[in-house]
Amino acid sequence: MRANPFENALVQLARAARVKKFSPELLARLARPEREINVAIPVRMDNGNARIFDGYRVQHSNLRGPYKGGIRYHPDTDINEVRALAFWMTLKTAVANIPFGGGKGGVAVDPKTLSKGELERLSRAFVRALAPVLGARADIPAPDVNTTPEIMNWMEDEYEKITGDKTGATFTGKPLGSGGSEGRGAATGLGGFFVFDALREILGVRKGASVAVQGIGNVGAHAARIFEEHGYRVVALSDSKSGIYNEDGVFVSEVIAHKKKYGTLSGFPNAHTVSNEKLLMLPVDVLIPAALENQITKKNARTVKAKIILELANGPTTPEADDILFKRGIHVVPDILANAGGVTVSYFEWVQNLKREHWTEDSVFRKLRAMLAREARAIFARSRALKTDLRRAAFVVALERIEKSLRNKK
Ligand code: GLU
Repeated sequence: MRANPFENALVQLARAARVKKFSPELLARLARPEREINVAIPVRMDNGNARIFDGYRVQHSNLRGPYKGGIRYHPDTDINEVRALAFWMTLKTAVANIPFGGGKGGVAVDPKTLSKGELERLSRAFVRALAPVLGARADIPAPDVNTTPEIMNWMEDEYEKITGDKTGATFTGKPLGSGGSEGRGAATGLGGFFVFDALREILGVRKGASVAVQGIGNVGAHAARIFEEHGYRVVALSDSKSGIYNEDGVFVSEVIAHKKKYGTLSGFPNAHTVSNEKLLMLPVDVLIPAALENQITKKNARTVKAKIILELANGPTTPEADDILFKRGIHVVPDILANAGGVTVSYFEWVQNLKREHWTEDSVFRKLRAMLAREARAIFARSRALKTDLRRAAFVVALERIEKSLRNKK
């Protein structure tokens, strides 16, 4: 049976609640989403037939502000996955200290099998199904796995057609020139680097250390490029099928060019082929899972050789693996901190849309760095004070903020 990521999310919640006391009401409220929407999305395919896709939107919590979180297109997406991802968004927006709650959406589809027209019709139909519960002050989606700025543009346009709303702030991650923010594309990868850089010395990693990145989607590709630009040796990269490894380092731009040209990493010159499982076990300093959940589990956590795991994917490490890694002295910088750069720049985009402003890339990056570095250091200090791992410390910081909003509402 497929692992249920929401069960892992609840275990994480229970563990954090053992490190610090929180009100039973808060814990009960976070243990289940406020609202879940299942939709059947009919799409006219190019051959004239109709196909019905399963779609989900989970609105986990709006205690701190409107629901916020991406929409994922993946054949394995189901309600348990979307529920877990929505839960993590609630914690993530609290860690980032931005005025949002948490939500997530998904459609069970492999977008690679659709034509561009089919993809657009699916995206617009999904918005028609969800329009009554979305809105710039209600629920604000964004890109996630396999969804792009272009898709956000179709979705925002469809939403505006239905509602007449012209604020342009219901979807974030839009293209530049269509209401998108400077820096949103790189934001998750760059934010991960800022978090890493703020903690690097205290975690005992030298500048120029070796890095392996699992996943070469938007997040992994930007992260690899940014670590390389800062003098780190990127030795391994992978896509959903396979990976490549060269202990002397690869040129990230060449790897990405190869993938673009051939649609695969295999055949990349001067590198060994490694499977996605093997990539996680490589002798590197920094391991960056940037793909899907449940990658590092009790089965393989004992053989991880990295000193630090920087979670740019959501939920890549299971709770059992967390314990094994903690005992082995391997630091896991948790997803709700490490990948919060994406939603933070989504917040900047939303503010710019509502205020009719356009910020420079430089000012976006400066604000992002200041916010994430501050939260990263505070979470590290909490982990020391509470004698616990970074995930529990990040949960504690988030739960304190959510608890505060809950008290204010009484
Ligand atoms: N999908 C991204 C995440 O998991 C970004 C969400 C957003 O920008 O709202 O954090």
